[in-house]
Amino acid sequence: LTDVVCDLDGVLFRGGAPIPGAPQALRRLIASGARVVYATNNSTRSASRAAANITDITGVPAEASQVVTSAQAAASLLTGDDWPTLPVGEEGVVSALEAAGGAITRRPSEAASVVVGLDRSLSYEAIAGAADAVRAGARFVATNTDPTYPTPAGLAPGAGAVAAAIAVAAGRQPEVAGKPHPPMRKLLRALGVTSPWVIGDRLDTDVALADNEEGWASILVLTGVASRQEGEGRADRVVDDFAAAVDVVLGEATRP
Ligand SMILES: [Mg+2]
Repeated sequence: LTDVVCDLDGVLFRGGAPIPGAPQALRRLIASGARVVYATNNSTRSASRAAANITDITGVPAEASQVVTSAQAAASLLTGDDWPTLPVGEEGVVSALEAAGGAITRRPSEAASVVVGLDRSLSYEAIAGAADAVRAGARFVATNTDPTYPTPAGLAPGAGAVAAAIAVAAGRQPEVAGKPHPPMRKLLRALGVTSPWVIGDRLDTDVALADNEEGWASILVLTGVASRQEGEGRADRVVDDFAAAVDVVLGEATRP
């Protein structure tokens, strides 16, 4: 069985529209018997909303159990002493924390931890409250530190920009959970992923996820953030798009 860890934005779709050829290639990959797990640093959607989004855009059915998000990776870090937690983020962060089963607080003075993701309605008050909690000793976790993310209108500030505002105000850097960090790898292994091909459009997150992992191999696609020049020598394969990545996966049984 071939395992594939697939990024979403810049790989399967961009700004709500499928990347040409990607839906057909995804069907071909699944029909081959490969197991596909979707791994996204987008913390705004819950896993079930992310799965519904994949289905809506590509027409290929996807289940929440096939999706791991950076918000879930962040929630997986919290242990008994880290609750209640103060979330700074959207539905994806809150739902991942709720699913992890601990208490959520909106009061900085009560927070044993602060979990920060992308929040597109971030307020000055939220930055101040989170910074207060971190300064008072709360555990500080960021879903991811992607500085930006691609939108149809260009690059928009990402979770890294939100976390940085709090980090500067608090004088402390966060632990980071999403790709390429260990919490995300651990969630993927918990799903039974072994020796996967990792397909993505970013070097610092997707390609780096496969770095230093025995048997993991990366395929960089050029439909998102990174260019061929940036990818050569860093990724195991550099291809034009997802359809070409599927050709690599289906055509090669051996590892680079
Ligand atoms: Mg991407």
